[in-house]
Amino acid sequence: MRILTIVGARPQFIKAATVSRVIRSDYPHDLREIIVHTGQHFDQSMSKVFFDDLEIPVPHYNLGIAGGGHGAMTGRMLEALEKVVLAEKPDWVLVYGDTNSTLAGALAAAKLHIPIVHVEAGLRSFNMNMPEEVNRILADRVSSLLFCPTEAAVKNLAKEGMKNGVFNFGDVMYDAALFYAERARSESLVLQKHAIHLGEFALATCHRAENTDDPHRLKEIATALGLISEKMQVVFPLHPRTGRILRERGFLSLLKNVRLLEPLPFLDMVALEQAAKIILTDSGGVQKEAFFYGVPCITMRNETEWVETLEMGVNQLCGADAERIWCAFQDLTSMDFSQCKKSSGTAHKSGFPYGGGQAAKSILKTIHNFSNSGAVASN
Ligand code: UDP
Repeated sequence: MRILTIVGARPQFIKAATVSRVIRSDYPHDLREIIVHTGQHFDQSMSKVFFDDLEIPVPHYNLGIAGGGHGAMTGRMLEALEKVVLAEKPDWVLVYGDTNSTLAGALAAAKLHIPIVHVEAGLRSFNMNMPEEVNRILADRVSSLLFCPTEAAVKNLAKEGMKNGVFNFGDVMYDAALFYAERARSESLVLQKHAIHLGEFALATCHRAENTDDPHRLKEIATALGLISEKMQVVFPLHPRTGRILRERGFLSLLKNVRLLEPLPFLDMVALEQAAKIILTDSGGVQKEAFFYGVPCITMRNETEWVETLEMGVNQLCGADAERIWCAFQDLTSMDFSQCKKSSGTAHKSGFPYGGGQAAKSILKTIHNFSNSGAVASN
């Protein structure tokens, strides 16, 4: 059986690393994976370092497609991916998440009648202004196997009439969080390298277009991080786009006490997440990792796809509003989350919403079974 995996962006490398490892360990003879990197994220720090550190096989194809408008980027990917799919004739095309690479990969396969596996299916923010929302809805619609990370995602698909081929084995990001937690703690030197003190700093990330491309929102976020940095060390690994826009808009002065870093390798990021007192982010992956590692989180968005993280009060939605972010910071840093920290991370608790850390194994078993039975679902 041949699976063509399409990745292009940082969070997809992390998810693909987890699934790819299981392909190599559990199906060394039955399953051949052909990896295509679209090139969407291309910097050394956003791409190569993940392939190296997470031991993802070198992609068979690197399409080198990045930049330009969403339409142009997706269109160029679609054209290039069609050629790859035609040449490789895979049994399945596997796409992850919600980026332009996801949509282009799903469309290329759908037009050539190759069944599609969507990992991280069913998530919805209900905000169609987000490029990610458009990508994920369209990718779900043409997929044959939809692997949801949560029950909420299963319900979202059911409401849209998609019930066939829908499974929830948990979140492959939780598999990754468990797999790399200890390795990050023992191998990463990021705390020492930057003189960051365990449990005494706030970790921030910001990269969503809704924040970076809106000067008012970006300024509010920079103001909030600046305010917090007067109380506590703030460590902010900068996504390349965010760094460029902060510079262009002259907002870097608001962050004068904030420790700005280059984008971090995954193990360093996981080490910092586990060591942080609090996390502020607009990232989907980082919100969840905060939850997995029992660290309180402020989400600098108006909505989240990861609604489960809100339920226990450890994640607060604050929009891009400096005052709300500041209030949530005071609120969350005054609470005692030590119990939450102790019970999270490594143990699968009953009622834990992201599965048991074995999602990738179950996903591959299901693909394998479907291939053998010859039955492919359609909605
Ligand atoms: N991440 C990383 N280095 C960084 C920032 C984030 O390794 O400097 C990881 C993070 O731990 C998470 C993933 O990248 O696993 C999240 O990716 P991103 O925030 O780009 O995308 P999203 O999850 O919002 O789709």
